[in-house]
Amino acid sequence: MAKQVVSPRVRGFVCITAHPEGCAAHVREQIAYVKSRPAMKNGPKNVLVIGSSTGYGLASRISAAFGAGANTFGVYFERPSANGKPASAGWYNTAAFEAEAKKAGLYAASANGDAFSAEMKAQVIERLKKEMPQIDLVVYSLAAPRRTDPATGEVYKSVLKPVGAPYSSKNLDTDKKVVNEVTLEPATEDEIKATVKVMGGEDWKLWIEALDAAGLLAEGCQSVAYSYIGPSVTWPIYKDGSIGQAKKDLYAKAEEIDALLKIKRGRAFVSVNKAVVTQASSAIPVVPLYISVLFKVMKAKGLHEDCIEQIQRLFETQMYNDGCLNFDDQGLVRIDDWEMREDVQKEVFEIWPKVSTENLLELTDFVGYQQGFLKLFGFGLPGVDYAAETELEVPIG
Ligand code: NAD
Repeated sequence: MAKQVVSPRVRGFVCITAHPEGCAAHVREQIAYVKSRPAMKNGPKNVLVIGSSTGYGLASRISAAFGAGANTFGVYFERPSANGKPASAGWYNTAAFEAEAKKAGLYAASANGDAFSAEMKAQVIERLKKEMPQIDLVVYSLAAPRRTDPATGEVYKSVLKPVGAPYSSKNLDTDKKVVNEVTLEPATEDEIKATVKVMGGEDWKLWIEALDAAGLLAEGCQSVAYSYIGPSVTWPIYKDGSIGQAKKDLYAKAEEIDALLKIKRGRAFVSVNKAVVTQASSAIPVVPLYISVLFKVMKAKGLHEDCIEQIQRLFETQMYNDGCLNFDDQGLVRIDDWEMREDVQKEVFEIWPKVSTENLLELTDFVGYQQGFLKLFGFGLPGVDYAAETELEVPIG
């Protein structure tokens, strides 16, 4: 047992501590939101979420379980508490989610380790065979900095860089709270290739093929992975950058997976979600400033959404609403429609050129950005006594 007072320790764009009770409160807040929505009519029943412990993957797991009463199996890569240090936020989130799911009489189990590895796929498949009926939804929501190719053992590292030419933009140093200018050198061919290996669709397809070969996919099984497009100001670093090349590969693999699932009258697609504060997005240059401005505009218009509202809306109004998927002309499902609304983008880009260090708090919702960031690690939740010692070692399952 290891009891301690836990405070946020932010280093650059990560917080190296996480609060167990705060993370649990954050999970319960998301569950409460889902429960406040009407139950889904024909929601998913048996769900595998790859990348289930934080961000969009956790929200998907929560919506499936508490919006549709689904059994869920989660795969994630998280750090338990050791040597008097707190576990990672995703560990505490998962512990809290599984405790709440079990309380609600729902099956919930998970595997912690490298989802890219063949061993992890084999281990998950063995457990699914024993523990769960055939799966009708596979959510692929990994955001990872590196991947070891299971076939060759080669390690690939993804980069967040422009492609072709350097890119200079207004940027926000979230640590120093300074609006500055950043210039990013373009990714090399090898870096682009590596980013595609890590964040492209190859691993998603390997998962679906392995699950299919093991007879674990139900008739009508769906699979979804997530992407981001955003406005033109972020394109050099996102849509047209190295990560964007990986997303193009994800779209191509979605078509191949779709063809595979069509055989069982299922389907696969990519959903383009809105920009939110997550551990993954806070590492992308320029994006935190854009999010701070976006939050200001969307909150003023009553359109603000976080991961849970986005995924609940995706499930409730599109995926489990008699097949009402809102495909664009690229074959991508769009749930970023409110972010991309003309009036929203117009206001964001009226603010964008005016933002400076001096007026950051007035013109943007940087306060909301910071609150959202700390919340990812369980800090700033109402009802949590942050001055009290808390047990760091929290078991999962
Ligand atoms: P996140 O960092 O919150 O979550 C990543 C998840 O992947 C975690 O559960 C983590 O444990 C897991 N993971 C990472 N490496 C792993 C490994 N090797 N093995 C097993 N699990 C591993 O990220 P997020 O922002 O929710 O991103 C999820 C997806 O959503 C990504 O495809 C991202 O591009 C997309 N997306 C994000 C945003 C945004 O604004 N954050 C917007 C649109 C789309």
